[in-house]
Amino acid sequence: MVVGDFAIELDTVVVGSGPGGYVAAIRAAQLGQKVAIIERDYIGGTCLNVGCIPSKALINAGHVYHNAKHGDFFGVNTKDITVDFARTQQWKDEEVVGKLTGGVEMLLKKNKVEIIEGEAFFVNDNTLRVIKEDAAQTYSFKNAIIATGSRPIEIPGFAFNDRVLDSTGILALTDIPKDLVVIGGGYIGSELAGAFANFGTKITILEGSPQIIPNFEKDMVRLVENEFKEKDVEIITNAMAKEASVDGDRVTVTYEVGGKTHTVEADYCLVTVGRRPNTDEMGLELAGVRVGDRGLIAVDDQCRTSVKNIYAIGDAVEGPALAHKASYEAKVAAAAISGDESTVVDYVAIPAVCFTDPELASVGHTQESAKEAGLDVKATKFPFAGNGRALSLNHTDGFVRLITTKEGNVIVGAQVAGPNASDVIAELTLAVESGMNAEDIALTIHSHPSLAESVMDTAEAALGMPIHM
Ligand code: FAD
Repeated sequence: MVVGDFAIELDTVVVGSGPGGYVAAIRAAQLGQKVAIIERDYIGGTCLNVGCIPSKALINAGHVYHNAKHGDFFGVNTKDITVDFARTQQWKDEEVVGKLTGGVEMLLKKNKVEIIEGEAFFVNDNTLRVIKEDAAQTYSFKNAIIATGSRPIEIPGFAFNDRVLDSTGILALTDIPKDLVVIGGGYIGSELAGAFANFGTKITILEGSPQIIPNFEKDMVRLVENEFKEKDVEIITNAMAKEASVDGDRVTVTYEVGGKTHTVEADYCLVTVGRRPNTDEMGLELAGVRVGDRGLIAVDDQCRTSVKNIYAIGDAVEGPALAHKASYEAKVAAAAISGDESTVVDYVAIPAVCFTDPELASVGHTQESAKEAGLDVKATKFPFAGNGRALSLNHTDGFVRLITTKEGNVIVGAQVAGPNASDVIAELTLAVESGMNAEDIALTIHSHPSLAESVMDTAEAALGMPIHM
């Protein structure tokens, strides 16, 4: 191994180039700092390479296929529809992921961020070593931002191999599986199950808790369960996955429900039971950075760790493991390093979206969490069945729900289950973030016909004067 015998001096160094790291690097550069970013794998991190973006590309391709097959509903003749999955994957990899990661690399360069390839290890609180293959170089830094993200959790009995896959493995398949067992029906498992169900794969979901997608409310999840049922997806809840055994090109999964043992066989088993922060094995203890029980780095409201010149953001710290939360924290950390003491994180409105059929989205309080927080609220629901745009899309399942204070009608939370909920939630996120009330929404002119009109209709209903209900 060649070890650089002198330390190259850096001003601000960012470790990891996901939606946390690359945004932090660009913002810090915009604020006048000399920035370097260190990445051991691919620019763009989990999100752009093996997470949000490729999964949504496959989900969309699955929709195109499924809708084409069912086009006769609209009077479109859809005989002999087939999928060229190799082309689907090529499109995903080259024209979606490739373009986006190339774009991020260009943005980093445009902002004069130095890209350093290799794996970073802290030596102390102002030095780190970067190792790439058989070469190593030492760097000293004034400030560091840890944005090392997370990786899939492997569970006993389910060691990853070419039939027992994590989310990265399933996204890289070259053929559509005939059947697939999904261990863990959280949002990643349910999204990927939905994508492959749309391609015609027979899916079995084994979920340990009483409900899939446990982070969302029952009346929202029921819509997804109904859709899964229509596509012949079997959901087995309260199931404890025990073991996977591979025999040739088949895998048998053993699981228990209520003390009884069962098995299910498939082409592949996908394990999506959660993710673990990438905070081990990078020398954080040598830098004095305090790491909590679950490997998450403890930070203050400016994302500063227990060491004053080292910050941490994204999946490596507490809070929902979401790309937009990582990017938000990135901007706060970059501002803090640049001497801004007033910019602090405020998590009042972090939207969460599950890209199932239909999409589920939530921001701020649910009715239950609002009550637990001591707020006197009411919930108002408006169904997409009363929305012209939803009808023209043939997607009328679902609703918009507003959680408003009984006094003043302040919007403290909202849920959307239905077509394009991922976009409809944006207006409601702004409403919660800005402390708007139902009247603010009701008096805003919404374009017609649009799904967003349902937000206005819900606000009018909350005020006791619904037009379309
Ligand atoms: P990451 O994106 O994980 O990036 C961390 C980077 O750090 C990686 O590139 C890694 O190689 C690098 N790194 C780690 N250690 C070192 C080291 N020592 N030296 C150098 N480099 C290092 N979130 C959403 O908001 N919406 C979605 O729809 C969504 N869908 C998802 C679908 C899937 C299948 C998966 C797996 C995740 C999804 N997520 C989604 C979650 C999202 O991807 C993460 O929350 C997000 O990527 C976290 O960003 P980050 O910057 O903290 O870390």
